[in-house]
Amino acid sequence: MPVILDEEKCTSCKKCQKICPSNTLWLTDGRPVVVDPDRCWHCMACVKICPFNALSLTLPSNISLRKVEMLSWHDGKDVVFVIRENGKEIEKYRFQVICE
Ligand code: SF4
Ligand code: SF4
Repeated sequence: MPVILDEEKCTSCKKCQKICPSNTLWLTDGRPVVVDPDRCWHCMACVKICPFNALSLTLPSNISLRKVEMLSWHDGKDVVFVIRENGKEIEKYRFQVICE
């Protein structure tokens, strides 16, 4: 499953379901589930939109041979990306989003 949920953080707000461009992330019993993993193209939209950092993503093997996860969230005008390996942060990036 490409998208990983931290159940304790999820408030069932449905923002991830609404933004999923491949229409494959649906709330089931109040929890987001990727119903067809083959249709998930790892766009990170659900991870970034979650206001509670409840979602992370396992990168596909054609991108990373190591089992790493990626988290992302908005922090003011920035978007932060964190890469974790075995639950430990190994890289962190911060980009400013400029909207005209
Ligand atoms: S990573 Fe993109 S395509 Fe995959 S479930 Fe999330 S929003 Fe949908
Ligand atoms: S956006 Fe986050 S809190 Fe809202 S339903 Fe999805 S995982 Fe849960």
